[in-house]
This record gives sequence, C-alpha cells and structure tokens, in this order.
Amino acid sequence: MTARTFPTGTIIGYPRIGRRRELKRAVEAFWAGRIDAGELESVAADLRAATRERLAGLGLGREDSSIPESFSFYDQVLDAAIAVGAVPPRFAHLVDADGRVDLAGLFTVARGEGEHAPLEMTKWFDSNYHYLVPEISPTTAFSLHAERIVAGFLEAREAGYLTRPVIVGPITFLALAKPADGAPEGFRPLDRLDDLVPVYAGLFEQLAEAGAEWVQLDEPALVSESLDEPRARLVAAVGGVYGALGALDARPSIFVAAPYGSLDEALPALAATPVEAIGLDLVRGSLPDAFDPATAESLAAKTLVAGVVDGHNIWRGDLADAFARVEAVRSLAGSVAVSTSTSLLHVPHDVADEPQLDPRLASWLAFADQKVAQVTVLARGLAEGRAAVEADLDAASAALRDRVQAPGVRIPRVRDRLAALEDADFSRTAYEERVAAQASLDLPELPTTTIGSFPQTAEIRRARAGLLSGAVSAEGYRAQMREEIERVIRLQERIGLDVLVHGEPERNDMVQYFAELLDGFAVTVNGWVQSYGSRCTRPSILWGDVSRPEPMTVEWAAYAQSLTEKSVKGMLTGPVTILAWSFVRDDQPLADTARQVALALRDEIGDLESAGIRIIQVDEPALRELLPLKLADQAAYLDWSVGSFRLATAGAHPATQIHTHLCYSEFGVVIDAIRDLDADVTSIEAARSRMEVVDDLAASGFDHGIGPGVYDIHSPRVPSVDEVTALLERAVGGIPATRLWVNPDCGLKTRGYEETVSSLENLVAATNEVRASA
Ligand code: GLN
Ligand code: ZN
Repeated sequence: MTARTFPTGTIIGYPRIGRRRELKRAVEAFWAGRIDAGELESVAADLRAATRERLAGLGLGREDSSIPESFSFYDQVLDAAIAVGAVPPRFAHLVDADGRVDLAGLFTVARGEGEHAPLEMTKWFDSNYHYLVPEISPTTAFSLHAERIVAGFLEAREAGYLTRPVIVGPITFLALAKPADGAPEGFRPLDRLDDLVPVYAGLFEQLAEAGAEWVQLDEPALVSESLDEPRARLVAAVGGVYGALGALDARPSIFVAAPYGSLDEALPALAATPVEAIGLDLVRGSLPDAFDPATAESLAAKTLVAGVVDGHNIWRGDLADAFARVEAVRSLAGSVAVSTSTSLLHVPHDVADEPQLDPRLASWLAFADQKVAQVTVLARGLAEGRAAVEADLDAASAALRDRVQAPGVRIPRVRDRLAALEDADFSRTAYEERVAAQASLDLPELPTTTIGSFPQTAEIRRARAGLLSGAVSAEGYRAQMREEIERVIRLQERIGLDVLVHGEPERNDMVQYFAELLDGFAVTVNGWVQSYGSRCTRPSILWGDVSRPEPMTVEWAAYAQSLTEKSVKGMLTGPVTILAWSFVRDDQPLADTARQVALALRDEIGDLESAGIRIIQVDEPALRELLPLKLADQAAYLDWSVGSFRLATAGAHPATQIHTHLCYSEFGVVIDAIRDLDADVTSIEAARSRMEVVDDLAASGFDHGIGPGVYDIHSPRVPSVDEVTALLERAVGGIPATRLWVNPDCGLKTRGYEETVSSLENLVAATNEVRASA
C-alpha cells in the first residue's frame, strides 16, 4: 500500500437532516406513501450533493478525502448493522435473495411493523442523539452488503469529489449491540468480533477497488468507561482488530476517529497497529504530556487528527487556543491534521439562517458551517504558519472579549444570590416530618396520577402555530388553552385519578417553554438537530445569566386547581434537564449555570405554593444522560446535578409534596443520586422491564414515595386491567403500599386520546382491585 497523506483539515461528520429538514420531510412523505423510494433517493442525492458543494465552498478539499461521506437515511448504527448483515431474524423477510434490505425495509427495522418490535433505541454516548441498538446472537450470520457505502463514494466521484467513506467501527458496533433475545446466558456481542472483522476487510477491499484513498471508522466506544462491556476488554480488542485490518493488501488508508473523550490507554493500543491516522477529541479529552517510547515511536509514523473545534456545542470559542492545541500535538506525531472533536451532527447548520438573533449574540456563535470554516482556518495556519491566519484568530478572540462584557452575560444580582447560598438552602426538613405535614393532602393508599402531559392534539398545535403567525390572538390562545385544561381536568375526574394535572397543553416543549420565559436564553428558528430518525429538536441557547422575569406556570396551574377539589400537581422541568436539552454557555462551570436555573425554579415553586398548589413535580428525565463517560468525572457531576435539583426544591414548605420524574429504569450508578434528590415521590419507567426495578429499589434501601410506571406510553397499546394489576401486585410485593404510587411510565403528549383514556381507566380499575385485595 502506498502511503497517502491525510488532509490537513477535515470534519468527523456533517448534519444529514438538511438545512430546512429536507430529509425529514422526504422520509416522512415516503412513510406516508406520498412519494416513492425513487423520489426519496433523489432528495437524498440532492442533499448529499449540496453538502459536498457546501463543504468545498467552506474550504475543504474536493480531491483530498477531506469531505466525509457521513450521510444516513435514519441512523449510522443501523446502516452498519445492515452493511454487515446483522438484521434480526424477525425481519428476515425484509432481506432479499442477495442479502439486501431496501429502503422500506431499512425503515421497518428502525420503526417496527405489527408484531415485530423495532430495534431498541438509546442515547449515543453523552449526546442527545439516539441510535438503534443492534441485536447480535451467537449465530448472527455476518455478511457484507456495502452497496450503499460504495455507491455513496462513487456518486461523489462522479461529481468530481474524492470523499472519505465513514462507518461505525467494529469494536464500537459490537460494544453498542445487545445480545439478541434467546442468546445464552453470559453471551456478549463482542464475543463475535473475530467473525465481524472479515466483513470489514471485505468492505475495505471494495472501497479500495472503487478508488477510496481513506476510510473513517468511528470508534467512540474506545473513550467510554460507561458501556456494559468492561473497558479493558474493549482496549484489548484494538490490537487484533486493527492489526488484522491494517495487514490487508487491498485497503484504503485507515482513519480511526474517537470522539467524545480521551482514548487514554486505548491510544497506545491503537498506535501499535498499522492504522495511518487517529482522531482525538481534544475538546472533551486531552493528551498525556509524554508517551512510553514504543508509543512515541509508533505515533511518529502516523497522523494525529486533532479534534480541537468543538463539534458538540455552538460557540465560536477560542480559536487561538485551539491553534495552540494543534501545535502542541505536532511534536507528538509524524504529522498533524485539524478536525472537529465530534461529528457536527450535534449542531444546527448555519448561524446565517437565524437572522432574528441579536447580531451580537450571533457573532459569538458557530454552527456546523462556521465550524467547518474554523477547521479550514486552523488547517491553513498549520500549513502556512500562524501569521497566515492571525487575523482570523484575533477576530475570534475579539468576539470572546465582547462576550465577556456584553449586557446579560454577567448580572450582579444573579451572581450575588448564588454567592450567598448556604448549605441550608439545599436541604428540606427531614422526610418523616414532611410525610406528617403532607398527611393533610388526604391521599388514598396507592394514589393514582399521571406524569404531566396529556395528548397534544392537532387543535392545540394549530392554535400555537396560529399564535406564532399572528392568526390567533394572545387572548384567543389563552382561552383555548383554558378550555383544554378544563377538558383534561374533567376527564381525569371522570376517570377517577387522585392527583390531577393540567395537561401541559401550552408547552411546545418541556425545555423550550421555560427557555422562552427565562432571561439568559435565546431560541432559534432553523436550529434543528437530529435526535433520532426523522425526529429533530431545536435546542435553545443558554448564553447569559439566568433569571425569571415573572412567573412561568402559575397562571395555568392555578386555573386548573380552581376547577377541582382534588389536588392539581404543578409541573416544572428541572435544572439538569433544562441544561441537557439546551446549548449551554461554555464560559463558566455547568454547576454554576445549573444553580442559576435552580434559583429561578425555586422562585417559581414559591409562587406556585402561594397560588395554592400543594404538589409540585420537577422533571429530571435527563439526569442520567449527562453522566460523564469517564468514571472519575461522575462523582463531581452527580454532586452538582443533584445539588441543583435540591436547590430548586428545598425552599418548598414541608407540607408541599415534591415529585420528580425520570424516564428510565437502568439506575445502576445513579440510584444513590436519585435517593439524594430527596423528592417526596419519584416516578420512573418500569413497565417495559416488567417491574424489575422494584427489586433494585428494595435492595437499595430507597425509602421515599415511588411510582414505577405501570404502562408503557411509547406504544398505542392499551394495557388490560389484569396486566396492570399483575404489575401492581409485583410492585406491592417489594414496596410498602404506603409509599407506592400508580402512574404511567412517562408523559402522554405523543399519544392519542382514545388509547389514553382506556389505558388510564384500566390503571384506575387495577388500582381499585389491588386496594380491595390488600
Ligand atoms: N412532565 C413531562 C410530560 O409529561 C415529562 C416528560 C418527560 O419526562 N420526558 O410530558
Ligand atoms: Zn418520562
């Protein structure tokens, strides 16, 4: 193999959904039968062409493999599963005689069909992106189906580009997979690594034949310490896999990218293999000052690709510092290149698409296109010397200085309040005393409730769109929301629930709603980011000190409470979740930002109490997802995240019952943290795991109120009374009935009314049965 140089500047990946979500629209039109596969393919081809042109226009090379081929119709892990033939047997009918899965089939694996459940979905490292979890068994028959990957490369070639195909690497692919149902006890997908590597070898051969000079394998599993697979086993796999792939005669040069953190001991392992380039995340991660002699010698023959432009946030950042970090890598490697720290999948396309933003704020931001431009600046500096890019580095520094002094970034009143906090501000009175004070709520045993939202109907969405466009007046909107709240209250009374909610009709999103009402946030118009498949979110930008100009939820909650004798639960989103689902300022510790948000929520809780609300839920579904990938960082994270929840809630009167809601049940490391939240009642997901969590809870000594979800809201299926009764009986077996709550797994906003009403009726009927038999 002839040695090829790696491009001086590149990116790990680019958003694929389209500047105006063209891919989302086309994919959903295809699902709805409005366009056929050919039309969808042509939208996708146009998008890929536009992306290549854009990237070249921003300064990446057309002919030097610097443009990654990172398109995906749905998810890159699903693409890898299909490329290596790992389609679960229940979808065997989607695979044709040649082993191929067509577009419709790909979406079916992703979304399920009838009895056939889709692949499970879970968070991609510590990001908000969700991937599909491959299912691997001892008999999964790996085979290569690289048509799409090769065709993507050839399509670009035809258009005059030499691009770099990207695929999830074999170690990460198996580390993220789960054992298929029915796999023997103790079987791990990674056990199949030796069978999988030859498939990648076949891919390399095809790519080499097609003319690819470089291939990118994404191996973020190599930075994580939080996967099911022990880290030592992942690191130990590196030598075999990349030794074998590197030894192939016919192959492109290999670039292994390791975003989301430091490679640590995986770096010497990779260095010892024949791979030509290694991508380092130097934003989240760092490099040691020195290497052992063998590693130092190996690296001297490789390219280190310094990921110094943050792919995971939207700040323009300190470009001069980024350049210094690239320069520091120079002495460690044979050659150095510049890149983003991660794929740009996590950021919107272009700041220029947000003309409504304050220009001063806009000048501090960099979305995907601005990050690409930053990479090309740094690459030019690397090639031609710092002087060549001095002006660009200075401009970024000037924007940083401007940001420091701009009004709203640092507000003395907010900072003074933070500085004056004392330990007592983080603690409520003892739980037993609160239980006694809350007896006046007069709740029955096994109180029933919901998680907050009721179905967001087409009328609600239309009203909100009308409010935005001006077609609906503020008064008209308010009247319609009040009508909806009344309907939801009457419905809950009729069903017989014990603790009612107002249904959250006025919330476009559980974070954006608050971001729009708090000072310190800005919202975008086109700033969409892919969350999974065709789903996108539009995170708000938390840029300044956070404060609450006026109450945010009190009017709605108080109105709902005025309609009923039963307690209405107030609904807030917790500080950690508000941070996790926004783009957060990077100029101070997250802990400080979280405390500012917490104080705003604390004031809101006080106002809710004054308005007569006696139960308040503070949702923290994102508590677990921000958990750092490195074990050493987890304690500090849990300390500030739990602390901010406590700060938000500890001002509540002992008689006010504080609830929280978490969207998952794999507590593991966070069980102590959940206890430390010290909420009076915690609702969690449990139905999908058939209440397994009850044993974990019992074992952990958790002794506050708990509502393990008794039905899965992620599907329209209505659980029968018997089914809910069985789950409840299981729960009563492990948790004293005095502490047990009955609720669904999560909010109902994505559900339809028909199934919601039947499901809640069954939930109440089952509760009554269990109460009667107790
Ligand atoms: N209260 C929110 C709702 O019911 C909670 C949603 C969530 O946890 N993701 O919609
Ligand atoms: Zn939830």
